[in-house]
Amino acid sequence: MNVAVLRSSAWFTLHIRCENCMRESEKVVEMPLGDDVPRDAEELIESVFLERLSFRCRPCGGVIGRLIGINGGGSPYDY
Ligand SMILES: [Zn+2]
Repeated sequence: MNVAVLRSSAWFTLHIRCENCMRESEKVVEMPLGDDVPRDAEELIESVFLERLSFRCRPCGGVIGRLIGINGGGSPYDY
């Protein structure tokens, strides 16, 4: 891990509320490098990355989470 790697990938913090116990949790995801990775929250929502994410509520073990917010993102590339 070096500075160049950190600068060239996008990080998002997902705020997820458990449908079972209604607790909110955060999940940090790092986008892989590539041409079609989402670069901001809007693109992330529209992408397939969220569908691949697994959610498990730590306190209750629920696996159904509702996304209530996204922080982070940023452009790793200059177009
Ligand atoms: Zn829960």
